Amino acid sequence: MAFFDIDKRIKDLSSKAVDKLDHVFERIDEISAYNSEKVLAAFVNKQVSESMFAPSTGYGYGDRGREVIDSLFAEVFGAEDALVRHNFVSGTHSLTVALFGVLRPGDTLLSITGKPYDTLEEVIGIREGGDGSLREFGIHYRQIDLTAGGGFDIDGIRTALQKNKVRMVLIQRSRGYSIRPSLHIESMRDVIALVKSLSPNTVILVDNCYGEFVEKNEPLAVGADLIVGSLIKNPGGGIAVTGGYIAGKKELVRLCSQRLTCPGIGKEVGATLGHNREIIMGLFMAPHIVAEALKTACFAAELFSLMGYDVFPQSNQPRTDIIQAIKLESPDALISFCQGMQKASPVDSFVAPEPWEMPGYSSLVIMASGAFTAGSSIELSADGPVTPPYLVYFQGGLTFATARLGIMSAANEMLKKGVLKI
Ligand SMILES: *Cc1c(COP(=O)(O)O)cnc(C)c1O
Repeated sequence: MAFFDIDKRIKDLSSKAVDKLDHVFERIDEISAYNSEKVLAAFVNKQVSESMFAPSTGYGYGDRGREVIDSLFAEVFGAEDALVRHNFVSGTHSLTVALFGVLRPGDTLLSITGKPYDTLEEVIGIREGGDGSLREFGIHYRQIDLTAGGGFDIDGIRTALQKNKVRMVLIQRSRGYSIRPSLHIESMRDVIALVKSLSPNTVILVDNCYGEFVEKNEPLAVGADLIVGSLIKNPGGGIAVTGGYIAGKKELVRLCSQRLTCPGIGKEVGATLGHNREIIMGLFMAPHIVAEALKTACFAAELFSLMGYDVFPQSNQPRTDIIQAIKLESPDALISFCQGMQKASPVDSFVAPEPWEMPGYSSLVIMASGAFTAGSSIELSADGPVTPPYLVYFQGGLTFATARLGIMSAANEMLKKGVLKI
């Protein structure tokens, strides 16, 4: 690897880390092969053809590409129907459409995985701002935290369901930016069955961000009613340049489509402007790209734990999302890690990220991202709040070979600054 100036000790440890990951990579490849077959079969079943890549304009009536994208996602995720659009500006927007699409004044939304993802706080109305929040529309919110061990608080959930008329239960699959464990698909099965037995009309919504294609199944297979995610994360395969999806029960997807566009119009309109090809090709690539991101995460976990750092999860633990956290122990280590990762990015390698006051955060935050799609987190990217214990959270990597170098460069920068334990 003479193209990059990486210290020999880091190169040696990296080789050692890769050698130790044989079985982990085999398992990742096996899941990726399964999901790739599943996706290819959907392409064959739905008769994807080149004519579907043509852009539509205006109302976009009869856009066959748009229709086939919905049916591809539905088949792949085991859903009755799906709503996949470039018009979803982000994962948060997709989740917002799902919440407002299904909930009505007087209903209660119950999160059973504790505090939801940061950006949802204003949507729900539990943080200031929040104009037009669910709360303003008379929708109540309750929350049950996960137990200390990271499991569902079954008694708490049972009581909340008995006391409130819960219209929707929200489950967040990924750890997001916290060190609680992520929730495996199988671990949702029993709790979903419990909710359904106590309250059959309650809709189970899973925030599936960062989880797609990490396991063989998606949450709909264990009883969830709706799943939601972003196309600049896993299911866009690094190719989709914007967008999101909602998939699940046909009637619920219909309700969401009436919210995305208008009552009475729903999913029958929407010009695709030439985005169909990227979304279709992105789905095709996604199982493979997710595997590359997972190998990168496992590699980093192994490399940094060889050097004595705490990593979450461990390199050989089963995964259900692509996020890796490392406890870097000092502000300088966190900053060097992000700057080193940026140095080996394909885009904007020459800029040095600095901590900044990000709106909504109480501490400074540093981010590294040298991506082809702005803000894409299926591409290698890192964030960390500059506050103890100085955790860096990172995810993505379009190819393991290049993302591995991003991680090595991060370690190398820490070494150069004298803040690497080695
Ligand atoms: C990324 C993410 C979101 C929000 O997606 P944005 O595209 O950043 O708005 C919501 N929930 C989880 C778990 C996420 O990882």
